[in-house]
Order: sequence, then C-alpha cells, then structure tokens
Amino acid sequence: MRAIVSACLLGRPVRYDGGAKPCRAVLDLAQKLEMTPVCPETAARLPVPRPPAEQRDGRVWLRDGTDVTEAFRRGSEEMLAVARRAGAPLAVLKAKSPSCGVHVIYDGTYTGSLTEGEGVYARLLEEEGICVVSEETVESCKPSVEHPVAIVLGTGLGHLAK
Ligand code: SF4
Repeated sequence: MRAIVSACLLGRPVRYDGGAKPCRAVLDLAQKLEMTPVCPETAARLPVPRPPAEQRDGRVWLRDGTDVTEAFRRGSEEMLAVARRAGAPLAVLKAKSPSCGVHVIYDGTYTGSLTEGEGVYARLLEEEGICVVSEETVESCKPSVEHPVAIVLGTGLGHLAK
C-alpha cells in the first residue's frame, strides 16, 4: 500500500528553519508501506529556510504580516495532484503545521499556542477522502479496528504499539 508522508518526517531538511523532524514511528512505517514524500511549502517554491507562517482568520500569514495564503494553496494543490496520481488511501503528516497539521494547528499568535484547525494540505487530502493522520497519532496508535490507521492498514499495527 502507498502512503503520502510529510517529507520532513522522513528526515528531509525542508522545514521553515532549514531542519527536518525525522520520526521513528514514521521511519518504521516506511519499512512496511511505499511512501511518497511531499512538502507543499517547498512545492510552492518557498525557500529553505523561510520565515515561520501560521493560520489566522482562514488565511496564512508570515509573522511580519505578509499574506502567503495563495502560495500555500498553490503548493498544496500541486501535492494533492501527487497524492491523486499515487492513489494513496493514507497520509501521515507533520502535526501542528499550517500546511500539514491534522485537527490542531498553531493559532496565529506565534507564541506556540494551538487551536483546532486543519493545515491547508491536510484539509485538501481529507476532502479527497484520504485518511489523514499525524506522526503523533501513528506514534500513539495501538492496534484497533476503530482507529483510522488500523482501518487502513488492517491488523498489522502491532509493531507500532508501545
Ligand atoms: Fe514538513 Fe509539511 Fe512543513 Fe513541508 S510543509 S516542512 S512537509 S510540515
């Protein structure tokens, strides 16, 4: 089975600060699934490093007040096309990101505070009917027929349970 994954979770240095966020659980999952790495922000030709961005009032802003909503949408739509071509039923995305965050994102105050919401890319994938989870969900996932990852992967999640 193929899955979309935030490239930074696989160790690619594409984050706003020039770094990566490799995640053990995701790297383990990459041994089981065919992973298609994506980064909607670099797909939008945003540089690495780049100023941090957060969502507020339905748009995406740099800390200096620059509205980067259209760039974020463009990159997310490009990576949606990649997901469609891959035919992936599952995406594992970076938690809290204004692009990739799943159900919780930074709140637009640049203080580290969180709020309910979806990253721009996560929302597009969810609207497409793809099962979207964050690396935090994967890390805490126990085998369960009710968990979305378990539904997608069947019962083979024992290696993820702690
Ligand atoms: Fe990682 Fe997504 Fe941010 Fe790219 S846009 S650096 S994949 S969280």
